[in-house]
Amino acid sequence: MSVQVVAAKMAEVELKDVPTGKDMPAGSPMTPTSEGKHLARSDPHEAGSSAAASPTGELSAKAGEDSLCLLTPNPAKMPQASAMKRTDPQQNGGEAFVNRDGTVAEAPRMKKIQFADQKQEFNKRPSKIGRRSLSRSISQSSTDSYSSAASYTDSSDDETSPRDKQQKNSKGNGDFCIKNIKQADFGRREIEIAEQEMPALMALRKRAQGEKPLAGAKVVGCTHITAQTAVLMETLSALGAQCRWAACNIYSTQNEVAAALAEGGFSVFAWKGESEDDFWWCIDRCVNVEGWQPNMILDDGGDLTHWIYKKYPNMFKKIKGIVEESVTGVHRLYQLSKAGKLCVPAMNVNDSVTKQKFDNLYCCRESILDGLKRTTDVMFGGKQVVVCGYGEVGKGCCAALKAMGSIVYVTEIDPICALQACMDGFRLVKLNEVIRQVDIVITCTGNKNVVVREYLDRMKNGCIVCNMGHSNTEIDVASLRTPELTWERVRSQVDHVIWPDGKRIVLLAEGRLLNLSCSTVPTFVLSITATTQALALIELYNAPEGRYKQDVYLLPKKMDEYVASLHLPTFDAHLTELSDEQAKYLGLNKNGPFKPNYYRY
Ligand code: NAD
Repeated sequence: MSVQVVAAKMAEVELKDVPTGKDMPAGSPMTPTSEGKHLARSDPHEAGSSAAASPTGELSAKAGEDSLCLLTPNPAKMPQASAMKRTDPQQNGGEAFVNRDGTVAEAPRMKKIQFADQKQEFNKRPSKIGRRSLSRSISQSSTDSYSSAASYTDSSDDETSPRDKQQKNSKGNGDFCIKNIKQADFGRREIEIAEQEMPALMALRKRAQGEKPLAGAKVVGCTHITAQTAVLMETLSALGAQCRWAACNIYSTQNEVAAALAEGGFSVFAWKGESEDDFWWCIDRCVNVEGWQPNMILDDGGDLTHWIYKKYPNMFKKIKGIVEESVTGVHRLYQLSKAGKLCVPAMNVNDSVTKQKFDNLYCCRESILDGLKRTTDVMFGGKQVVVCGYGEVGKGCCAALKAMGSIVYVTEIDPICALQACMDGFRLVKLNEVIRQVDIVITCTGNKNVVVREYLDRMKNGCIVCNMGHSNTEIDVASLRTPELTWERVRSQVDHVIWPDGKRIVLLAEGRLLNLSCSTVPTFVLSITATTQALALIELYNAPEGRYKQDVYLLPKKMDEYVASLHLPTFDAHLTELSDEQAKYLGLNKNGPFKPNYYRY
């Protein structure tokens, strides 16, 4: 089977491909790491045949019949995801988590999800003021994935709650709840723009013209509702799935996109500026519907999964699997697994190489400048910046700032990352050595109390302070809420905190994720993650009984490689093909996987 991939700025390429089942034999060997964790090991020597990207970026099936077409699910041959068991070291309620590399780290204490009371009557809604006060903090569970924070529609133009409106689309269907169906045309244009930068999903759709690997799938989703998600939902639909969707974040819904989806027949329950009560009501409307029961979950943050666990546990009898994108949601799944309460297989998309290595690094490299510029109009050339943490996010931020001519300092606790920073040309310092002189402070550690009051006191007048890490505890913002300091809101998401002597610092997004709160993130990066999600759904939905147990799995490396391959044609990239002799010499299958699972990239 072949398919034409058509995307703007992209040469047409023919795709015949896909990962095969042989290369990931059921029950991939598990190798305990030194931390006692279990990471799936993929031995390239054992690899079977599969698709590989050719030098032209084309994916070609290996000569032979065992090449598996993605859109022709063959349960016996589908690559099996590898289980990545992670021992949850938590002893006392959420102070540790397992890093992507399998190490155990301290985590900022997670706020417990606040479930609406079982007996809650959704019709009793709070007043507008009440709604605001009930709002979920965006620093909660849903902030570790990224969406376009900028919706071009202003939710304040119409004060009526969508829940009080009876709306229907042009076909008379009213099974949705959104801000304003009249914005559908506008939303459609937004979706079409996003499609241009999501080549892999468009390729999957083309392939689906003949076959529907998700036929019969009833996917309930809870993610940011943005143009990029719309492209994913419409792809799932093209692959045969029925979808009902709610937002995973009360602020990130693009109202016009939700309108376009509703007009297109999707049951969407979301709007920008939902209250806490609205949030759970929308999730409930997705699952609590007569004559429709989900059999797949696509979650971002774990709220939907937990809602079903709490309110409709019987639904899990029909659910074939959960696909989870976020760090937080994955953490919750591992907790469930450890407690023996995970009753269906789950795919951890967050730890896929194509998510981790692209979302964190490239997304931040592209969006750090955008977030700073939109909020402060700062010029970067010649400015002194200190970046705390030189992991994926820190590396992205440093690279962008260096390219703009900033003088960049780095702080690190890990000598390996510290050495990387040095060899990349950054000065490694302790924060107290530069805190008086820097113009911008950026935290990217995933840690807490990195910038404490003592440092804030010593910063110079006009210093910009912001955070790119998951949690809003990296900067000790609470320590700034003292009587002698004055807070002045100068712009949306921009506060001046003023000391008695007149010194002021510029605090962005109250210490929450800068790019999520104040900028957009690149569609192409989201395309990579969305493609991984789509493949994870296809894999779980088509897996034969017994392939996946009630555990948390990683996508097979071949699928990671496949996701990457689907994005190469955008760059007119020409991939080198191994010769038979070279493949033999390296002990690899010519068609991949090309790296063992422990490879760090
Ligand atoms: P990472 O683990 O690769 O890097 C964090 C680095 O910070 C590590 O090298 C660690 O040694 C260092 N560190 C820890 N405590 C420190 C301290 N007190 N001082 C200096 N350095 C310290 O993680 P990452 O992938 O770079 O992600 C970092 C954070 O950003 C996480 O919270 C993650 O969830 C979040 N994140 C944000 C975005 C975004 O778009 N803003 C994208 C992905 C991830």
